Amino acid sequence: MLLELPNYYEDHAIELQLGERVARIDPSLRVLELSGGRRVFYDKLLMATGAALRHMDVPGHDLDGILYLRTLRDCDMLRGLLQQHPHVLIVGTGFIGCEVAASARQLGCEVTLTGPDLPLAHVLGKELSEIYAGYHRGKGITLKTGVKTTAFSGAGHVERAVFSDGSTVDCDMVVVGIGVTPNIELIAEHLKIENGIVTDEFCRTDVEGIFAAGDVANSWHPRLGASARLEHFDNAQRQGEAAAKAMIGKLEAFDTVPFFYSDQYEFRLIYRGMALSWDRVVIRGAPDTGSFSAFYLKNRRVLAVCSVNRYAKSVIAAQLLHHEIDSAMLVDESVAVDHAFGK
Ligand SMILES: Cc1cc2nc3c(=O)[nH]c(=O)nc-3n(C[C@H](O)[C@H](O)[C@H](O)COP(=O)(O)OP(=O)(O)OC[C@H]3O[C@@H](n4cnc5c(N)ncnc54)[C@H](O)[C@@H]3O)c2cc1C
Repeated sequence: MLLELPNYYEDHAIELQLGERVARIDPSLRVLELSGGRRVFYDKLLMATGAALRHMDVPGHDLDGILYLRTLRDCDMLRGLLQQHPHVLIVGTGFIGCEVAASARQLGCEVTLTGPDLPLAHVLGKELSEIYAGYHRGKGITLKTGVKTTAFSGAGHVERAVFSDGSTVDCDMVVVGIGVTPNIELIAEHLKIENGIVTDEFCRTDVEGIFAAGDVANSWHPRLGASARLEHFDNAQRQGEAAAKAMIGKLEAFDTVPFFYSDQYEFRLIYRGMALSWDRVVIRGAPDTGSFSAFYLKNRRVLAVCSVNRYAKSVIAAQLLHHEIDSAMLVDESVAVDHAFGK
C-alpha cells in the first residue's frame, strides 16, 4: 500500500522498486541485492525497515484462531471475526492489546485481557496502569494479570489458554499483542546494534553513508540525554525527514518532543515528552471523571505529560516539559497549569 498517490513519486523523481525485498547489503561496495537478484548501488543508505511482530512459541501457538495485528488485512479480518461476538482472549497489556480489548468490547464481545503487568504499566507506570485497569474493568473486561500464558489447547482451533499459575480460560479466539523486535537482520553484522540500529542525533550509524530512522533506530536524543528506540508513527515520520536532510548534508539534530496518542473507549490519551525513569507522578484532575493529566517528574523537573481527554490542555501543559515545577500548584486546578513553574 502506498502512503501517497502514485503520481507523487513520479512528480518528486522518486523511483519506486516494489514487490521485492532487499536480501543482502554490502556496505564495503555500497550495494544492495534484491530478492530477485538485481543489484542496486547507493551513495547513501537509509535503514527504515521498522519492526516485526514478536510471536508466541508456547505449546498450541499454531492453533487456528490465534491472531496477530500488524497489517490492514489483519485488521479487516479481525474486525469481521469480532463482529461474530466470540469470547476473545487478548494476550499482552500494551497499547495493541488494550486497544484491541476496547474495540472488541465495544463490538459486544466477552473479553479477557491478560499479561504479567497491568494495562500499559511498562510505558505509563503504576499509577496510570491502575487507572487504566479501572477503565477496562468498568467496561466489563476481565483482567487476568500477574501471569504468563503458557499454552493453548483445542481440537484444531483454539478453545482454551493455560496460565503460569495453573489456571485456564476458555475462549473462541486469541489476539496476541506482545510487542515487536527491530528488523536489523539485513545489516546487523555491519553496524553497531543495541536494541536496534544505534545512531547519533543526526540519524547517522557508525558506518559512513548509512543512516537509520523509525522503529528500527535506537537514536541519541539530546533532549532526553539518552538513546531511545521509539515505536510511534509521529517519530518515524519526523525522524525520516531529519534523516533525509542529514543524507543531503543538512545536519540538524533530531530533537523533537516525542508524541503519541491512544484511543480506548471514550478515553483519548495524549502523551508528550519521554519519561524513561521518574521519581514522582503528579496527577491534575480526577481520573474517575475520565479527564486528567499526569506529570512525570524527576528531581521536580517535568519529563513527560500524559493527558486523558484534555487535548487543548495537554498542549499548554507541554510548556512545562523540562522545567522545574511546584507540584502543589500543579495539582490545584484553580491555578493555570502554566503558572506552576517552580520558584
Ligand atoms: C496495529 C498497529 C497499530 C499502531 N498504532 C499506533 C498508534 O496508534 N500510534 C503510533 O504512534 N504508532 C502506532 N503504531 C506504530 C507505528 O505504526 C510505527 O511506529 C511506524 O509504522 C514505524 O514506521 P517505520 O517506517 O519505522 O516502520 P514500518 O512502518 O514498519 O515500515 C517498515 C517497512 O520496511 C519494509 N521492510 C522491512 N524489511 C525489508 C526488506 N528486507 N526489504 C524491503 N523492505 C523491507 C517493511 O515491509 C515495511 O514496509 C502501530 C503499529 C501497529 C502494527
